[in-house]
Amino acid sequence: MDNARAFELVLKLARMQVHQSEELIEACNIVEDIAVNHFGDDEDSYDGLHCPNCNDEHIEADRIEADGNIGWSNCTCLSCGAEWVDRYVLDGFTSLTLPKLADVE
Ligand SMILES: [Zn+2]
Repeated sequence: MDNARAFELVLKLARMQVHQSEELIEACNIVEDIAVNHFGDDEDSYDGLHCPNCNDEHIEADRIEADGNIGWSNCTCLSCGAEWVDRYVLDGFTSLTLPKLADVE
């Protein structure tokens, strides 16, 4: 779970538990704005080339590891020091080669 998602869930839980406290709801809204500004609210705009925190291109990424249909790679921004995990999802395959009939018994 990434930090932005964690913030979202914590805020949702806080709102459910304290729905009668206007002040706390307002505090949650402020924290949410800060979180959105800090972590970004639009994963669709993430291009894998820029730091999601400072937008710098000096990113160091580990080899992609995979399990089943998902993959991940630990990333570090060499500019601001932010760390995150890039996610990958298998979207298909190419270059299928069928065995020759003689190889199949
Ligand atoms: Zn950065």
